[in-house]
Order: sequence, then structure tokens, then C-alpha cells
Amino acid sequence: MNTEELLKDSKGVVADLRTLAAMTSTPAGAQRIAWTPVWDKAEQWFMDMMKAEGAEISVDSAHNVFAKIQGETDDAVLIGSHLDCVYDGGWLDGALGVVAGMGAIKRYGIHGKKPKKTLYVVSWADEEGARFGRSCIGSSAVSGALNVEEAAVLKDNDGISFTEALKRYNLNVADFPKAKEEFLKKGIKEYLELHIEQAPVLESQNRSVACVGGICGCERQYITFTGQRAHSGCPISMRHDAFLAAAQASLKFRDIGLAHTTADKFAYCTVGKVSVVPDVVTIFPGICKISLDQRHVDSSVLKTIYDEAHDACVKAASDNGVDVSFESVWSIPPTIFDPHLVKLCQDSVEEQTGERATLYSGPLHDAAEMAKFLPSVMMFVKSTKGLSHCKEEDTPDADLECGVSAFFRLVDKVVNA
Ligand SMILES: [Zn+2]
Repeated sequence: MNTEELLKDSKGVVADLRTLAAMTSTPAGAQRIAWTPVWDKAEQWFMDMMKAEGAEISVDSAHNVFAKIQGETDDAVLIGSHLDCVYDGGWLDGALGVVAGMGAIKRYGIHGKKPKKTLYVVSWADEEGARFGRSCIGSSAVSGALNVEEAAVLKDNDGISFTEALKRYNLNVADFPKAKEEFLKKGIKEYLELHIEQAPVLESQNRSVACVGGICGCERQYITFTGQRAHSGCPISMRHDAFLAAAQASLKFRDIGLAHTTADKFAYCTVGKVSVVPDVVTIFPGICKISLDQRHVDSSVLKTIYDEAHDACVKAASDNGVDVSFESVWSIPPTIFDPHLVKLCQDSVEEQTGERATLYSGPLHDAAEMAKFLPSVMMFVKSTKGLSHCKEEDTPDADLECGVSAFFRLVDKVVNA
């Protein structure tokens, strides 16, 4: 493997990322929100750049855009991620994976050497769900997990429905499931995705890049504590304070998360939403509703932290003389990536950095949809301070170049196997 050539090609990827960021950002951050003109511009750029490398472009029924380089065989490898971002987002989330895929196509396109397997790069439609609130639209259409009836009636903040927004693209969400059969005709046998970590673990370990062994499963619920609102002049010992019960439970969630965290696997418990009724300075609340989002890569541990959180809520309710009720809103099982691809990914990281590093993803990715039916793996590059989904999202150039080089090593192994 020519390390200098890898470095040169990875520098090209970083330069292309800067070009994309300049085209699609304002001082507030990246603005490639799916189903908006700025995203369309990014998608057009992707298509034009890939045509110039001799790639064949196709757009499926769910508006996923594929670039293809024919190899010696029809067995194909897919590299993918997403060009869309959240409002005022960062320059790397999603874009890194697509632009690294573009870099791989450059290495194997008309200016490069013909690959053994056929190579596809995909820009998945609407991974973030920033405008309509449903994530992984394009990749879940391909995996068969997209609920068309639910998606059709989603509305953005201006009250425009998903169905209405798709008219500008001459698309109908009822046709999105056709993307699955279109995908199966492509002969794709493996899926690879490079992404920023979106947490500060690699930075804390002084590492640039690591293999991702899997993606956490998630249990998401609303928990409502119901007591009796009354005047803030009522003695504390005589209250039925719904907020204090929620607060006591929330502190316990932190303990549960920390207690089930090991050196390489984190347990996550997050209270992201809190509302009290009434919302008044001189009244302690009669109702407090919180959200709880729990994640772990082992389904047995996920069940344990879920059960322990339930018990903590029952105890907090009892301690504070209030009632508690639970409403499950969403869950997804953990994703464990393909052992053979994980090994190749670890080998690639080790060849590049001298170290075998593996971690697990807290955030969800399109790769979770692909892993449902295809051998898949991801690779993570360090995120500065763990920040993402904001304009401060960044990774130093040297770490990006290291990560992209390691990813190219992985692509070479899989494409030429
Ligand atoms: Zn992403």
C-alpha cells in the first residue's frame, strides 16, 4: 500500500468537503436540509463530480442517488452516507462518508484502476429527518422499514406535508418502497460507511480513527409524574410535588447509566424533555412529564437499564407521594456489524495507525438499516470536543486525512477481495 498516494487522495477528500461546505453553508452553519434547494444543490454537485469520473448515475424511487463504477464482476460493494444535515449543522456529519465515497470512486474511476468488484456510492435521502422529523427515510425505504402511511402525513414547521414537499421532485411517498427491489437488482454484497464519531471518546483516547463494532439499540419513553399542585407556601414535607419526583428519578438515571458503563461499552440514559404543569413561580407542579432515551449495544443490558429506570421512577413516585405512568414511544434493537468486515476494518485502522481500536456508536446511522440485510461495517473519525449538529462541528485535517486513508484501505480490501 502506497501511504503517500493514500495521503494525497485523502487530502483531495478534505478539499472536496471544503468545497461542499462553502457551497452550502451560511455563517450559522451548513444548510443542506433534505427536501430544500440547498440540499438539491449538494446532490447535483455529487452527481456532476461523479459523472466527471466516469461513474453511471441513477436515482431510485426514494430519491437515493447512486454513482456506479463497473468492476470486473457484477458483485458490488456499496459505500454510503448522507449529504443532508440539520438546520445550522456541521460540515462533516454525513458529508464525510459521501465525499470519502467520491474519493474512492476517483481512485477506481476513469482516472484510476478498474476494481475487481463493482463499486457504488450512495447519497441516502433524508437521514437527519430535520424538516419532517422522521430519520433515515431513504435507507429505511431500501430496507423495507419505512412506514409509508406515517411518512405521507408528516408535516414541517410551516404545516407543509411530506407528500406536498415531494411534488417538487415529482415523487410520491407511496412509490418509496420500490427502492427495495431496485436495490436488490444491483448485486450489492457489502456496505461500508465512514462517519464522524459525534462524541469525544476518540479525542479522549488521543486517537484519530476506530472501527465501529455496532450501533446501540434504543428505548425511548415518556414518563409522567402526577401529584397535586399547590401554593409554594405549603410546607415541603407535606407536598405531592411532581417535579421533585421527576428530578429524583432523573438523578438515578445518571447513576444507572454510569453503573452499566464498561471500558468499551457505554450505557446512555438521557432526559431531554421536561415539562411542568402549571409552569408558575409560586406553584409546585402537579404534573411533570419527562422523556427518557436509553441506549446500549447489548440488548440484555438495554433491558436491564430500562427495568432499573422503571423501578427508580416507581420509588421516586412513592418517596414523593405522587403517581407515575409510562408511555413507550419508540425502540430499536442494537446493530452488531458483520464479524468479517469488522476484522477487515480493524486491520485497516491498525495498518494506518499502528493500533487496533474499536468502539460502538451511540447515535443511529443509515448503516443500521443496511445491516438488517447486508454485511455492513462503519468506521469513525474523531470529532473535536465531540460536537456535532452545530456549526462548531469539526475534525483537524490531519485526523480527517488519517481516517480517510484508513477507510480507503478498507475499501481496497473489500473491493478487491
Ligand atoms: Zn450522520
